[in-house]
Amino acid sequence: MTLEIVSHFIDKKSVPSRSNRTSEVFNPATGEVTKLVGLADAREVDEAVSSSAAAFESWSDTSLAQRTRILFAFREILEERAQDVAKLITQEHGKVLSDALGEVKRGQEVLEFACGISQLLKGSLSDQVSKDVDTYSIRQPIGVVAGITPFNFPAMVPMWMFPIAIAAGNTFVLKPSEKDPSASFLLAEMFSEAGLPEGVFNVVQGDKVAVDALLGHPKVKAVSFVGSTPIARYIYENAATKGKRVQALGGAKNHMVVLPDADVENAASAAVSAAYGSAGERCMAISVVVAVGGVADELVAAIQTKMANLNIGPGELISSEMGPLVTRAHRDRVASYIDSAVRQGAKVIADGRNHPLYSVESGGFFLGASLVDEVRPEMDVYRDEIFGPVLAVVRVEDFQQAIDLVNANPYSNGAAIFTRDGGAARRFQRSIDAGMVGINVPIPVPVAYYSFGGAKDSLFGDTHVHGEDGVRFYTKVKAVTSRWPAEHREGVDFGFPQNR
Ligand code: NAD
Repeated sequence: MTLEIVSHFIDKKSVPSRSNRTSEVFNPATGEVTKLVGLADAREVDEAVSSSAAAFESWSDTSLAQRTRILFAFREILEERAQDVAKLITQEHGKVLSDALGEVKRGQEVLEFACGISQLLKGSLSDQVSKDVDTYSIRQPIGVVAGITPFNFPAMVPMWMFPIAIAAGNTFVLKPSEKDPSASFLLAEMFSEAGLPEGVFNVVQGDKVAVDALLGHPKVKAVSFVGSTPIARYIYENAATKGKRVQALGGAKNHMVVLPDADVENAASAAVSAAYGSAGERCMAISVVVAVGGVADELVAAIQTKMANLNIGPGELISSEMGPLVTRAHRDRVASYIDSAVRQGAKVIADGRNHPLYSVESGGFFLGASLVDEVRPEMDVYRDEIFGPVLAVVRVEDFQQAIDLVNANPYSNGAAIFTRDGGAARRFQRSIDAGMVGINVPIPVPVAYYSFGGAKDSLFGDTHVHGEDGVRFYTKVKAVTSRWPAEHREGVDFGFPQNR
């Protein structure tokens, strides 16, 4: 059987790669290779970037009314075809269908935010700052923007970026993850169907070769990256050295602090859904529960009871609540953290390594939900980002120790607290060094009109994605000082201009 090869999408057309390099795309639920994806070489990246560069002048000149009309049309198509995108995600990523649909909807919210770009691009004007002089600011697009995205949200993360960038008048080249490349292609097709002109949104499939070609391309003016911390750091350093604007969001280790006064049943339910939803392959997944004081035994028991009912199975089955991991290599790497936890003296309460749906020889990349108690900060299971269904419990004596633990961790996307004490919640919110804080909310992903992003090693650059930060990142501000009437003046004044 010949396998389909996922192509680039350039100038509103499917463009097969000519590089002769491909990567396998799996169905993680069966372990089968279902497709290949063509991996761009530098020449193909140049083709995509040059097409977007050629489209920039006309697109940035297109009226706001016309640009937003196309965005609204895209929104309608996406609303109609959200299930199609979700199915592709489940086929290639493995997450359950309801979760895949959820990510499409969260991406759609950013698109809806971008539909209001006319409000967001307003400048400001100060009248009569000096005699007959006004000062005003305008926001303009920056040019060709590159987006480089991870496997875990193949629709939502690209949609954090390209709707806002394009609405603001930029053109965009997306390099999605080679592990699940089809959702990006479909989104580009749908946007094109909505009336987007050629070259405004191109998708180039690829790996490090394509990324390096984008980073080195002089016509790429800005890079938005989301992925793991080592690559985020690499992207930030390389793109910045080449004078590009860059935002690079990295990995995470999200803590959920549970105080002794918390509603233990609620906290346990929240921990189970936030740790094992999407098999823990979320940058906002809870991977550490910090049990404060006497709450630990009751909390661990409640988590254990609730996770025992978790229905693990292929993503396309409605009954499945958690699917497989993305690749066999990733599954084995995640499982190895349970091995190391045992070696290093933690207490494994639930062990997913021998889940019945998993076999060493063949089959899907399943790993059962795992719970590890009595974890200490020096253990690998605590220190590393695991990105799988492994929840660590660290027991601390008091609230201050919990805060110190979270703040000492190099990662910091989200952090959550579960308590009935408003004062404690407020203290947490103020003192925690994280980009996003949840109060009795385990996964505090902000709505589209706020911005998403972490701190410390979870973010390289100054701006978060979407919301107002997104608009700031994809535009440059120009301040104009203007004098009308432009009266004739005698002589040349060499003094520094002063406002009178
Ligand atoms: P990854 O860093 O391996 O890959 C991300 C992108 O970088 C992909 O497009 C990939 O092709 C490219 N890439 C990979 N290796 C590269 C290299 N050596 N040089 C240049 N480019 C390279 O990440 P992933 O495994 O696809 O995704 C999971 C990671 O993403 C996790 O660490 C997760 O926490 C993180 N993530 C973070 C956020 C966030 O908002 N902070 C959101 C989603 C995912």
